[in-house]
Amino acid sequence: MTSSSSATRVRFAPSPTGFLHVGGARTALFSWLFARHTGGTFILRIEDTDFERSSADMVTGILEGMRWLGMDWDEGPFYQSQRLDLYTRTANTLIESGHAYHCFCSREELEARRASATEAGSVPRYDGRCRAISRAEAQGRMAQGDSAVVRFMVPREGVTTFQDAVFGAMEFANAELEDFVLLRSDGIPTYHLSVVADDLDMRMTHIIRGADHLSNTPKQVLLYQALGASLPIFAHLPLILGPDKTRLSKRHGATSVMAYKDMGIVPEAFRNFLALLGWSPGEAAKQDDGRDREIFSTDELIQMFSLDGIAHSNAVFNNEKLAWYNTEYIRAYEPCRLLPLIEEEWLAVNFQPTRSREEILAAIALLQPRARSLKDFASTFLAYFGDEFSMDDAAAKKFLPEAAVRQMLAELGGRYASLENFTEVSTEELLRAYATEKGIKAGALINGARVALTGQAVAPSLFAVMAYLGKPTVVRRLVAAAELTVP
Ligand code: GLU
Repeated sequence: MTSSSSATRVRFAPSPTGFLHVGGARTALFSWLFARHTGGTFILRIEDTDFERSSADMVTGILEGMRWLGMDWDEGPFYQSQRLDLYTRTANTLIESGHAYHCFCSREELEARRASATEAGSVPRYDGRCRAISRAEAQGRMAQGDSAVVRFMVPREGVTTFQDAVFGAMEFANAELEDFVLLRSDGIPTYHLSVVADDLDMRMTHIIRGADHLSNTPKQVLLYQALGASLPIFAHLPLILGPDKTRLSKRHGATSVMAYKDMGIVPEAFRNFLALLGWSPGEAAKQDDGRDREIFSTDELIQMFSLDGIAHSNAVFNNEKLAWYNTEYIRAYEPCRLLPLIEEEWLAVNFQPTRSREEILAAIALLQPRARSLKDFASTFLAYFGDEFSMDDAAAKKFLPEAAVRQMLAELGGRYASLENFTEVSTEELLRAYATEKGIKAGALINGARVALTGQAVAPSLFAVMAYLGKPTVVRRLVAAAELTVP
């Protein structure tokens, strides 16, 4: 790592007009991984100059999402709404240097001109007529109370170019760009002005953001040039599409990051999944069998991340893949690492375990190979952590429909009560001997006992479950089977 690369400064700059969505989180993640990989600084900046659409709740939600995904920032959060002076100063600098001017065209005039351009079949673009107003005249008109916006004077000819770290050499004809607004008549900056003023002021070295901003970049490049500043490195990220190859939207399911938390996704699994949405570690991640590795710890992601690995083509968000990551992470975690995540789920459903920590950890170990979501631990697995659990009706109907079987289970419970050495082996021996004695298939008792003990039709090996639950609980739940009313 060279000393210049350790001075990287990258930001995530969300607009709090909505939740932290999947695309935003991926942008944040790539920026964060890049900052961490290069030993640089990661800055969080809230772009809240759209006062009508921004809200404090959305800011809270964004910060919550960042924290959930473990993306810590070194500076900020800075709020653009508190930095308006900088934007006015920057606009003034541009006016003074002849790169920007006041425009007095009213909204109605602009709309009328736009409509007639569209009617004539041409692309509506501001024609630059207020360029002709001298600065002195403009000052005079404003002193009289005329309202004006500040527009940037886009060169009428030539091209604006930049090198994108993902998309390569980009070139835009200036004639295609209009004299865009920098400052509205109420003094509020537009995105182009505030983003460039801040990126310069905060000394950003790299701008990593979605490819939807590619077409904004030439305007921003012109601003950098007009301000006599050198360009940061731009890296635009390919879009994220739904499985039907259209842009990811609510139609495809949840788009807010916190909705995935609410689905019981392990944050690290989500982060691993997001990291590979449009980035690949390349050859370094080939397994011995030639297949691509897909599971990477956060440290590995940080170590391997590079802008070179960002794909040019759009990424597809695949829910099954995310579910696969989640099961892999749940399986691989040490139970004690899973426990705090499970405790959050318990809190959410107001459940208090009655088992000891050791027992809980043992139950997690027993259950984690079967879990698909953290939610399972606070729903179908509750019987392992306390006595408050509900019986799955379908399971009861299927395996406990006969009163005779329920009666036998209760009787079996009585036999277990006097079993001295209550283990996986002895509980199985006793059940099988009891089935033979009663002339019933052991399988019928096993299936029934599973439902009576766990409330579910599927569970880990029944006798492992018995050994885990322990004699008193097993006896109590089996005896209670006699009282069950099965619909
Ligand atoms: N606030 C902009 C957004 O949320 C940031 C764009 C940028 O990174 O320049 O899209």
